[in-house]
Amino acid sequence: MKRLDRPFKKLFRYHNYDFLEKHSGAIYGVWKDFRLAYLNPGWFQFAKENEGEPQISEQWGLGRSIMDCVAGEVKALYLEKLNVCLKSNTVWGHKYECSSANVFRLYHQIVYPLPKHEGLLFVNSLVVERPHDPGRRRERDADESAYLDQNGFICQCAYCRRVKNFRYAERWDWVGEWVTRCPGNTSHTFCPSCFGHYFPIETSD
Ligand SMILES: [Zn+2]
Repeated sequence: MKRLDRPFKKLFRYHNYDFLEKHSGAIYGVWKDFRLAYLNPGWFQFAKENEGEPQISEQWGLGRSIMDCVAGEVKALYLEKLNVCLKSNTVWGHKYECSSANVFRLYHQIVYPLPKHEGLLFVNSLVVERPHDPGRRRERDADESAYLDQNGFICQCAYCRRVKNFRYAERWDWVGEWVTRCPGNTSHTFCPSCFGHYFPIETSD
């Protein structure tokens, strides 16, 4: 499978290509319109370890927009953050959770703007990996009657992967089964905690 859009390589002027290729985490590059132009071997390794294959290789090749995997408010906020990074030539670093059903994993992602506002490079590194703390993450059953909204969708947080429990005013549960395999009727959003953490509202004081 093709992993590099040849003209994109000239944007790696300030990055060591061999390092990107050998990095154990997933690294990918996009053109300024967010279409994939580079995938390192770590990307495929990550997909394989997370039961993402063969779908990842089949559906997420070069040319596909990374914005296709998000929708609604998540998409709007990503676009805003990434456009700032691209246009003002500033690096955006943040931590995010990407756990499996049994293992808590925290990653650090750095988004580097590439020369002449032509593209972005995403570098993901694993910073914490440990079994879930059962006291803090009580496993819930995949009971659709509690988790479907009025349109028949399961609302999963794009970051912590908890799902909204509609029987309560504000409750988000850990349903391991849907972390391992997200059903087709899943829509991605932010839970209030992740929204507040990742997209803080700037105040003047
Ligand atoms: Zn969350």
